Amino acid sequence: MDMAKDREKMNDINNPKSEIRELKLHDLLIVGAGPAGISAAYESKKLGLDYVVVEKGLIGNTIYNYPIGLTVFSTTNELEFNRGDLNPAREKPTREELLNYYVHFALENELNIRTEEIVLKVERVSEGHFKITTNKKLYESRKVLFAIGAMDFPRRLDVPGEDLQKVHHRFLETFPYVKKNALVIGGGNSAVEEGLHLTNFTEKVTLLVRGDRLTASQIAIDKVNEPNSRVDVKFNVIVDAFEGKDSKLKAIKYHFKDSDKIEEVHPAAAFVFIGQTPNTGFLKEYVELDKYGFVLTGHDLTHDDHAAVHKPLPFETSVSGIFVAGDARHGSTKQVASAVGEGAAASISIREFFRRSE
Ligand SMILES: Cc1cc2nc3c(=O)[nH]c(=O)nc-3n(C[C@H](O)[C@H](O)[C@H](O)COP(=O)(O)OP(=O)(O)OC[C@H]3O[C@@H](n4cnc5c(N)ncnc54)[C@H](O)[C@@H]3O)c2cc1C
Repeated sequence: MDMAKDREKMNDINNPKSEIRELKLHDLLIVGAGPAGISAAYESKKLGLDYVVVEKGLIGNTIYNYPIGLTVFSTTNELEFNRGDLNPAREKPTREELLNYYVHFALENELNIRTEEIVLKVERVSEGHFKITTNKKLYESRKVLFAIGAMDFPRRLDVPGEDLQKVHHRFLETFPYVKKNALVIGGGNSAVEEGLHLTNFTEKVTLLVRGDRLTASQIAIDKVNEPNSRVDVKFNVIVDAFEGKDSKLKAIKYHFKDSDKIEEVHPAAAFVFIGQTPNTGFLKEYVELDKYGFVLTGHDLTHDDHAAVHKPLPFETSVSGIFVAGDARHGSTKQVASAVGEGAAASISIREFFRRSE
């Protein structure tokens, strides 16, 4: 994924490239074709809604960007749209099996998904009527569902040297690190999963955790704590700087919270996994967000503009008619199973809204 280009496109909201107008008012425009968006599209089709999905990358783009060969930590029943559909060769699917399943699911169900088209702007024309500008077209829709995930902007430590080569903020394949030492910063699911994934080939992985415990899933924590695990965890660590030579990482300096003594490690690569920020900048002027940019919905809302119209429905934002499902939603669990469930539930909520107003 080319982040610089992505940002450029997002910043271009006041100057959309195209004025090609789609001559119809859709019931629902879904932004994003990840698990939440695909699930919402499938449910919308079953409910008879006239929907369209606009995806800036490829179907299952976040999964497409998982490292090649990754075995996911979820079991098949947590990843499927319909029970028993996903048949991995081993107990848990690889990135390739999961992506193959989602792409086939979208194709076989003839879901109306338009890829490589980015939503830049959403404007409310009137109650139940939105204009959506992409880099290719202008759409009109009665409702909009954001299923845009939260993978766009990895959070940074903001310490010196963070842009050196070999300091990564994304999951990468492990092959370049065969028999080398790697370092991961973070204690949540992403950091621990990447640490475990790296041990497939690396000599050793050091995990630097700011807090005093891991906050990943219990299965992942148990794997880290296995006697033969090659993940060495250090808690209560503050990273001070990445140091390099010829723009390449050479050392990482850190200290423990209760000490001023600076320690140093020299891994082949460092992976910073301290959270993600969704790309909701283009929504912030009208939809209520939390301090990290996640979208507030339902009873999490402190303000809403539609109290006079109706109480916010589940997954409805502070703007009547704009919904959000999956990782981009404040309070979501950042897992496929909940994204799939939320996508379907949001479509049902929207259908219910139409039914009531018919
Ligand atoms: C390496 C890795 C491994 C993981 N393993 C697991 C696992 O084993 N089990 C698990 O449950 N979870 C796992 N996760 C987390 C899981 O991928 C997410 O929880 C899930 O993808 C969230 O689904 P979503 O539909 O909400 O968002 P996403 O899957 O992120 O989909 C959002 C989509 O919206 C698109 N989009 C964003 N902005 C726009 C825009 N402006 N216009 C058009 N399109 C847009 C994006 O391109 C993307 O395709 C993993 C994550 C990573 C990174």
